Amino acid sequence: MIRDNIIKVKERISSACLKVGRDSGSITIVAVSKTRPPQEIKEAIEAGITDIGENRVQEALSKYDELSAIRYPLNAIKLHMVGHLQTNKAKEAVKLFDLIHSVDSLHLAQEIDKQAHKIDKVQDILVEIKTSPEATKSGLKLEDAPGVISEITGLKNVNIKGLMTIAPIVDDPEKARPYFKALRELKDKINKLSAMNHELTTLSMGMTDDYEAAIEEGSTMVRIGRAIFEG
Ligand SMILES: *Cc1c(COP(=O)(O)O)cnc(C)c1O
Repeated sequence: MIRDNIIKVKERISSACLKVGRDSGSITIVAVSKTRPPQEIKEAIEAGITDIGENRVQEALSKYDELSAIRYPLNAIKLHMVGHLQTNKAKEAVKLFDLIHSVDSLHLAQEIDKQAHKIDKVQDILVEIKTSPEATKSGLKLEDAPGVISEITGLKNVNIKGLMTIAPIVDDPEKARPYFKALRELKDKINKLSAMNHELTTLSMGMTDDYEAAIEEGSTMVRIGRAIFEG
């Protein structure tokens, strides 16, 4: 089932890429395995998934512990933190994750920098942007992003690779498109600021209900849960 789901997702990614003349090799699939047992993570990896995403540090720790207890090789797998990260969890997150998608304040970036310094790591991060006006969503406001990102690029043990957004839940994926477009435009704008001297390359956007629209708008990383683990 998981294997078939992954094949279907890859086919739909290829069609979306074809539509806009992109290479499907430029898209990373992050299989978001929150609430799913280690056995299913194994199945996804055995079906070719190389990137696994979780939204809670504690849950990720216990599942990955379970997998390493049975000597399941996770060292070739990239682990992603896609959920909101509290400052007091930064220490554990830095030990565990290859990429943290959800950095939404300078304060959190500074804490990650401090914890990464302690273990002699340069932590790859994305900055989460609130592209929609919904009050409840986390993420930096579009207008605040260039200033905060400029400060983050000054931190030595943090490497900012790009931007992430979560589009609002809509009935039609076309309605999510403007938010994806806004994120791509922000990346282009920041990359043009000569003061920054740092190129952002990753755009983490698109989930089960809207990943094709996200890819058409320039996503390089889709975070997919239900389409892989359900149905
Ligand atoms: C759960 C989750 C996903 C995956 O969502 P699906 O709709 O199941 O594909 C992606 N990103 C974040 C931040 C999530 O929490």
